[in-house]
Amino acid sequence: MSMSPAATKPAIPIAPILSSASFRRAGFAPTATVLDAGEARLVTSGRIAIGLALREIGVGPGDTVLVPAYHSQSMVPPVLWRGATPLFYRIRPDTAPDLIDLARHIDGRTRAVMVTHYFGFIQDLAPLRALCDARGVALIEDCAHAFIGEREGRPVGAIGDYAIASSMKFFPIYEGGALVSARRPLGTVALRSAGPGFEAKVALTSLENSFSWRRLKGVQAAMWLPLKLKDGLWGALKKRRPAPAALAPSSSDSSYSFDPGWLDKRSSWFARTLLALVPASRIAALRRRNYERLDAALGSLRGMRALHPSLPPGVCPWVYPLLVIDPEPLFERLLAAGVPVVRFGHPLWQGVDEHTCPVSADLSRRVLALPCHQELREGELAWLIDAVRKAAA
Ligand SMILES: *Cc1c(COP(=O)(O)O)cnc(C)c1O
Repeated sequence: MSMSPAATKPAIPIAPILSSASFRRAGFAPTATVLDAGEARLVTSGRIAIGLALREIGVGPGDTVLVPAYHSQSMVPPVLWRGATPLFYRIRPDTAPDLIDLARHIDGRTRAVMVTHYFGFIQDLAPLRALCDARGVALIEDCAHAFIGEREGRPVGAIGDYAIASSMKFFPIYEGGALVSARRPLGTVALRSAGPGFEAKVALTSLENSFSWRRLKGVQAAMWLPLKLKDGLWGALKKRRPAPAALAPSSSDSSYSFDPGWLDKRSSWFARTLLALVPASRIAALRRRNYERLDAALGSLRGMRALHPSLPPGVCPWVYPLLVIDPEPLFERLLAAGVPVVRFGHPLWQGVDEHTCPVSADLSRRVLALPCHQELREGELAWLIDAVRKAAA
C-alpha cells in the first residue's frame, strides 16, 4: 500500500481522526469485531500480530508459509524473521483465494496459510478451512482490513487458527494491532508495557493529529501547555537516547519494516482505552454509509467501476476500492488535487508479478481506493466526490 507522499498533505484526512463525535453510541446497531472472535492480545501493529501467530504455530527455518500474491508488503517480513520461505498463491478476480493454485503450493514443509479479507469484504473461508484441516496446515486470517464485521452470524476472525488485525486502520489511534484466536489458547503470549516514552508519544501524537485537522478544539486549548512541555521533553529525550525514532513502531509511520523488538510489547494505554470507548457500531454504520455514497456518485463514471458489485451485510469497509482502466493519469490528477488515495499492494513484494498471479498484478496496478472512514465530515465527503469527478472528466 502506498499513500500520498507526506510532503503534500491531502485536503481531507486519509485515516480516522479523533473527535468528540468518535464516542457517540446512540442510534447505531451493535456490530461484531474481531475481538469478539476469541481470546485476544492487543499489540502495537498487525504485522507484529502476524509474527506472534507464526511463532505460536512454531514456524521455523526450512518451513514455507503461503501468502496471497495480492498482499501488503508488511505481511512478508514476519515470515522471513522466522527463517521461513514465503510462497505466493494466486487469487481470483473477486479476490477469493484460488484454491487449486493454493493447494499446489502445499507440501511437507508448509506450516501456515495466510488469507486476507481485502478492503473489509469478508471471504467465505469454509473451503480453505477444510483444505487446511485436510493437509494439517494452520490458517492465519488477516483481518487488517476487517477489524469490524461478521459473516453468517460469526464475527470476522473466527475461522482461522489465528486472526490478526490492525486497529489503526479503523480507530482514531496512532498504533495498535490484535492477535486473536477462537481455537488455541494465547497463554504463552505475555506482553509488557513499552515504557512511559512510548505511552506519552502515542497519546500526544493522536491528539496533535486531531488538532492539526481542527477536531477537538476545546481539548486543544486545554492541551496548549502540555504540548509545549512535550516539545521540551522530546528535545531532552533525543539528547539522551541513541535512537529516539524507536519510541514507536515503524508501522505507525507507514513503512513495511518489521522490528521483533515490539513482539512482547502491549499496545499503549491510550490506544487500548480508545478501543474500549469508541463504539464499533458507529464506525461500521458511517463507513457503510460513506461507501454507498461514494459508490452512488462514482461507481458508474466512465473508465472505472467499483471492485465489488455490492456491499454485503456484515461488511465494514476499510476503503472504497475503484477498479480503474487507465489508473496512472487519474492517480496523478487525484494527487495533484490533494485527494488521499490508497494503492493497496502497490508495489508487490519483489519478484511477485503477472507470472506469479495475473489478477494480483492487475489489481495492484488498477485499484485506486478512496477513504470512506467514519470521521469524514459531510463537506469533506462532498469535496472528495467532486474532486474525483473532476479528475475523471
Ligand atoms: C496493513 C496491513 C497489515 C499490517 O498491519 P500493520 O498494523 O500496518 O502492521 C497486514 N495485512 C494487510 C492486508 C494490511 O493491509
